[in-house]
Amino acid sequence: MIILAPSLIMEQIYNLTKEELSESLKDLNLPKYRTNQIYDWLSSYASFSEMNNLPKELREELESRFSCTPIKIRNEFKSKDGTIKFLYELEDKNLIEGVLMQYKYGNTLCVSTQVGCRMGCSFCASGIDGLVRNLSAGEILGQVLCVNRHIGGNKENRKITNIVLMGSGEPLDNYDNVLKFIKLVSSADGINISQRNISLSTSGLADKIRKLTDENLGITLTISLHATTDESRKGSMKVANAYSLEELMDSIRYYYNKTHRRVVFEYIMLKENTTPSDALRLRALTRGIACHINLIPANPSPETKTKPITKEKETKFWQALKNEGLSATTRRTLGSDIEGACGQLKRRIIKEEF
Ligand code: SAH
Ligand code: SF4
Repeated sequence: MIILAPSLIMEQIYNLTKEELSESLKDLNLPKYRTNQIYDWLSSYASFSEMNNLPKELREELESRFSCTPIKIRNEFKSKDGTIKFLYELEDKNLIEGVLMQYKYGNTLCVSTQVGCRMGCSFCASGIDGLVRNLSAGEILGQVLCVNRHIGGNKENRKITNIVLMGSGEPLDNYDNVLKFIKLVSSADGINISQRNISLSTSGLADKIRKLTDENLGITLTISLHATTDESRKGSMKVANAYSLEELMDSIRYYYNKTHRRVVFEYIMLKENTTPSDALRLRALTRGIACHINLIPANPSPETKTKPITKEKETKFWQALKNEGLSATTRRTLGSDIEGACGQLKRRIIKEEF
């Protein structure tokens, strides 16, 4: 299979803000309402041929300038618990995954930010092949718009209420595209999902956390902590070689002191990181930061040797954190029967095309 370099592909219309779209169509001297019409259609993930209030010549012109299907749903897998895992095809034929979780209060879409991931955490399937490439802002936005349409939504009748940047990839390793995505998806010109309903999860790139703080966004910052000493963190997360826990916690303090937004820590419960001393160290590490600890039962995956601990041990660790006065809950695992749970998403290969 030939994988086209993204540069050989036509300009992706979903990378553009409304102002940028208007600028790039300047030579056509369109009346202003036309750009609004186009942008509205795009937010409903319509194809150019479906934009039936535009003159045919304009639709053809758009078709010749831009591509407008950054994401196609190639397959979907439904879990017993209602979670749906999507297999998406990108324009260069790479395949990525995403997960839709349906709750009483709304629908949360877990989006990917990279094809693969170069962080190589030992418990996670997303990093197995390393990083293949970054996703563009339009490809991340496309996941939201495509699934929104797929489940019967459009720009006015939004079906996706929450977004978590927790699919494959390290969002802060694709900083500019992720930042643009957050601005596009929360823009009043577009699908307008409030930043309060967006969570960004990072393995902890301390310098980028500081940079993100200075963007003054309203999103929730989630940190994949998973260990309470540098030594044990280095054992499972390569990123710990680049940033010590002290540097990481300093950057989070900088974020918290500036934004006063509660931080979420994710903590996969493994045999080696759930001792009574870990509970004490978690208390000390997070002192001075309003936070919540999301305890994650480890999800097994054929590619990683990750093993969950027993439910009794999970409860014991949770209790130890409560005794330390920490706010902690155990995350319900959704979609594990379809390999759609945390750490089970990965780049897929189109086998039949080889
Ligand atoms: N790269 C980012 C976001 C994607 S991973 C990050 O690491 O934060 C989303 C979450 O799933 C992270 O907290 C990650 O540590 C967790 N995760 C990875 N592998 C897992 C596994 N096998 N079981 C449970 N959670 C896992
Ligand atoms: Fe990448 Fe996050 Fe998986 Fe680590 S846990 S390999 S950073 S996607």
